[in-house]
Amino acid sequence: MKVLVLNCGSSSLKYQLINTETEDVLAKGLCERIGMEGSAIAHQPAGGQKVKELVPMADHTVAVKNVIDKLTDKNVGVIASLAEIDAVGHRMVHGGENFTSSAVINDEVLKAIEECNDLAPLHNPANLIGVRSCQDVMPGVPMVAVFDTAFHQTMPKKAYMYGIPYEYYNKYKIRRYGFHGTSHDFVSKRAAEILNKDRKDLRIIVCHLGNGASVSAVKYGESVDTSMGLTPLEGLIMGTRSGDLDPAIVSFIAEKENLTAAQVVDILNKKSGVLGLSDGLSNDFRDLVEAGAAGNQVAKGALDAYAYRVGKYIGAYAAAMKGVDVIAFTAGAGENNAEVRAMIGEYIEFLGTNIDPERNKIRGEETILSDEGAKVVTMVVPTNEELAIARETARLV
Ligand code: ADP
Repeated sequence: MKVLVLNCGSSSLKYQLINTETEDVLAKGLCERIGMEGSAIAHQPAGGQKVKELVPMADHTVAVKNVIDKLTDKNVGVIASLAEIDAVGHRMVHGGENFTSSAVINDEVLKAIEECNDLAPLHNPANLIGVRSCQDVMPGVPMVAVFDTAFHQTMPKKAYMYGIPYEYYNKYKIRRYGFHGTSHDFVSKRAAEILNKDRKDLRIIVCHLGNGASVSAVKYGESVDTSMGLTPLEGLIMGTRSGDLDPAIVSFIAEKENLTAAQVVDILNKKSGVLGLSDGLSNDFRDLVEAGAAGNQVAKGALDAYAYRVGKYIGAYAAAMKGVDVIAFTAGAGENNAEVRAMIGEYIEFLGTNIDPERNKIRGEETILSDEGAKVVTMVVPTNEELAIARETARLV
């Protein structure tokens, strides 16, 4: 089956066409600046050259049309016609409490997704526009919604409730939801497979360390806790997000800097994390490691705070699961940044991880980092959210 996987943002659209029998990516690409001046599509067929073109794209429907044009193009296309696309899988950010798993999209499902818009006002409406655009351009092709939050719906109440008046949960559904669920599910499953074990027999901590970052506790196959909350702002220090902080800081900064609460939250989302901690140097861990090695103390301080927070969460989740068998690193920095992994490694050594510095040098490959005989097996497991969405889509249609 050929599945088109779409990840729609407010002004962007990422896509991959995946053959779910072979699990090969046939083509992938990105539409940027949709609805703005200078919109462009970058398209890459498997094994071929990447092409980038400036194309006016007034909205997502035009963007989807452009994607189809490229996929069926005589030179850079990989299919003869639209009819070869068997299904579309959409990445959906927030499914609230309405979705505990992926769902085939119909009117009822769309309504239930819309009900969650309040919880993710930036992401969900954009995801939904992607769905509607596909309905316009390829009517009748089955579509599936795969939610970032669904995998974490198994969290027990003690893990997802905030210590605030209960009425806010009743009235507004304010609770912890968690994100990156597709990745935490994929990586924990794959980690068990690599170890030739059943995920149902393992307590796994997954550290998804990208620009956005989260840790999850996957106990005997189910997510029982994760570091992101109502929104992706909670938890780890990230590329540009603050992660956990004293909530009183919001009104404190607002008063001192004459800002609204929403403006402060925007700063916490976009100008904080290691970017803010490094005094604006970079949100990219490569830059920070390089600057730190060259003696930049501010960059080093940002990395120290970052690694310390990840280490603390791993300790907390070992306690939450009353033990841990496997720790898996994934996403950009988790897969590729040996220096960051080594820094985190120091905090978790006491668990019996026996990380071998030689093995830890790898980048972007499935690797067991621990020595033989380690009590807790530490590994790198590259994530593949698009493939996970394609698999879910094929399974459901
Ligand atoms: P996103 O959340 O945007 O998907 P990624 O998973 O791509 O983010 O992660 C981005 C982070 O991964 C960046 O901070 C970057 O430094 C790090 N990273 C990506 N590739 C490498 C690499 N080859 N070596 C070291 N770090 C890398």
